[in-house]
Amino acid sequence: MICIFCRIVAGEVPAEVVLRDAATVAFLDVSPLADGHVLVVPAAHVARVEDLTEDAAVSLFRAVTRLAGPVRAAVGAAGTTIGINNGDATGQTVPHVHVHIVPRREGDGASSVHGIFRSGPRRPVAEVGMAIRGRIAGSAD
Ligand code: AMP
Ligand code: ZN
Repeated sequence: MICIFCRIVAGEVPAEVVLRDAATVAFLDVSPLADGHVLVVPAAHVARVEDLTEDAAVSLFRAVTRLAGPVRAAVGAAGTTIGINNGDATGQTVPHVHVHIVPRREGDGASSVHGIFRSGPRRPVAEVGMAIRGRIAGSAD
């Protein structure tokens, strides 16, 4: 599949690129949530985090760690919220993995990641932990 981010990676669609290596490209979001809002994407099209190769994942997160400080400093921010919408149900609008790095300031009115979710009845933590460990044990790798 070829998507808008694939076209940015290929240089077919203009973008304000801030970092590029063989496996990863980072560019400014066209509709920024704050000045300095950067998207970091794997060069190869992959829709979801769980489909990244190990090498692509390592390169992607290495780029995030390289960018977090410079992005924050370039706009004089106090911190960054770093997040991934992973799948249609989460509000992912571009089906190519992308890490949002959004500079934050004291009192900017945005919430933490916890603000996304309403609290409500939950399954017991131990039960859910067992279910996840079971899935990991049953997976191919
Ligand atoms: P998400 O909702 O997590 O899928 O975020 C997709 C992001 O991509 C949004 O913040 C958009 O503003 C951004 N976006 C979409 N098209 C472009 C583009 N051509 N260049 C830069 N950012 C884009
Ligand atoms: Zn793509």
